[in-house]
This record gives sequence, C-alpha cells and structure tokens, in this order.
Amino acid sequence: MEKEVQLEKDKNNTKSESEEIWFRCSACQELIYRKDFEKNFKVCPKCDHHFRLGALDRISFLIDEGTFEETDAGLRSVDFLGFKGAKTYLVSLKQAEEKTKLKEAVITGIGKIGGKPVAFGVLDFDFIGGSMGSVVGEKITRLVERAIENNLPLVIVSASGGARMQEGVISLMQMAKTSAAIKRFSQGNKPFISILANPTSGGVTASFASLGDIILAEPGAFIGFAGPRVIEQTIKQKLPKGFQTAEFMREHGMVDKVVHRKELKKTIIQLLTFLTEK
Ligand SMILES: [Zn+2]
Repeated sequence: MEKEVQLEKDKNNTKSESEEIWFRCSACQELIYRKDFEKNFKVCPKCDHHFRLGALDRISFLIDEGTFEETDAGLRSVDFLGFKGAKTYLVSLKQAEEKTKLKEAVITGIGKIGGKPVAFGVLDFDFIGGSMGSVVGEKITRLVERAIENNLPLVIVSASGGARMQEGVISLMQMAKTSAAIKRFSQGNKPFISILANPTSGGVTASFASLGDIILAEPGAFIGFAGPRVIEQTIKQKLPKGFQTAEFMREHGMVDKVVHRKELKKTIIQLLTFLTEK
C-alpha cells in the first residue's frame, strides 16, 4: 500500500528512486521490476507488451557488439519553409535532439547481424514521431545506395507517424525517392528485410517500410496509413476488431510474420542465411 502511494506521488515528479527500480506496466497494470524489463528487451515480462524502443537500444539489441559504423551522421534538417505551428520547426528539432540525444529521426550504417554484414537503418519515434523529412528520406536513400554498391542485404526497422508536416511537400517527395531507391535495390540479389515496430504509419508505411522482400512486425504494433477514426469517418463504416494491428496485417497478407522481440535477431539471421547463402 505504501508503495502504491509512493508510485502515485511519483507521477508528478521526474523519475524517482522507486521508479528507477519498479514501474507499472501501462498495458497490464502489473508492477514490473525494471531490471527484468531491461533484460527482457523492454517487453513486459507479465503480459508481453512490447514497449517502444529507441534507435540506440535497437542497435544494441540487433547488431553484433562493436560492429556498427554509422553513416551520414552529420546530416541535419533545416527549416526551409520557416514553419510555424504550435511551435516552430526549429524548436521541435531542438527539443527532439535534447530528448533523444540524436540528430535526426533515423540512424543508418553498416554493421553485422550474426556475423553477417548488413546495411542497417532504424527510425526513432521519440524524434518528432519518427517522421520522415528530407534528411530521413536522404539517409534512407543513401543507405539503400550503399547496400547496392557493396552488395549487402538491407535491414530497416521502422517506427514512425509518417511524413514530417513541417517540411510540407518536400517530406512527401521522400516517399517517391526512397521507393525508387528500393526499386533499384530489388534488381540485385540481396534481400530487404523490413521490420515494423509500433507504430508504423503514414508516408513510411506507404513507401519503403511496405517494400520489404520480407516484412516482419512486432506483436501488437499499430500498422496503417491513416488512423482508424479518419477511415471510419471517410467510409462511414465500423472497422473490424484488431484492425491495423500487426496480427491483423499478417492475417491479411501485408506482413509475413509477427515476431516477438526476443526472437527478432534469431529470425533475421535465419532469413539472411536462407536468402543469401547458396
Ligand atoms: Zn504488462
């Protein structure tokens, strides 16, 4: 009981001492020991809820230790439209940088998975919703081009709200640009494994994320283009249960396999072995 009160109080503060050790799972409401949670790849040990994973965690979970070499790390977004919304684009960028310690919503590079070299990209939802602006599009495109040049398999983990509205039509152009790069990549003989994490939506779903030779998804991930409310209002129909989840997408052929996070690396290695070795 005392702990309950303590936790309640902690909500108003930043992370307190007890919260460092325990926290309540937002999905099953059980108290979770943070060390177990970290060891379990940030999946709830009680209910298997897959919590959002930052790009750096994703690299440490999937890429062999010490093998990752980041590419195009210096590319930064500029506010070419002078965008002003609830906050300016420059403020959004600065806050995202402080929050994530990243310079953009995607990290790209070359690394090894199970000893096999791959061109690897990962989006970070905490950086302006993992949105794709000109820099995200450019970094993904360059990654794909590097994979073509070096004849490497391509692995991209997506987690994104879609195109970056602060860059207007230029962000929409990234859909065509990344898709064209994937088309060129597909003329080679190496696979593109696309992994959809929670959430994958908008212009990212509508471009490179859906163009994988193999498309994997994490359990329970939201995968879609527009949100359910917009669709219901447009088609004036109730949507089926579980619509736009990874499991629904698998049943309807948009996703090849739903893979638990702790099985993800093993699954990628199996696919790379099967698809790249004679
Ligand atoms: Zn849980």
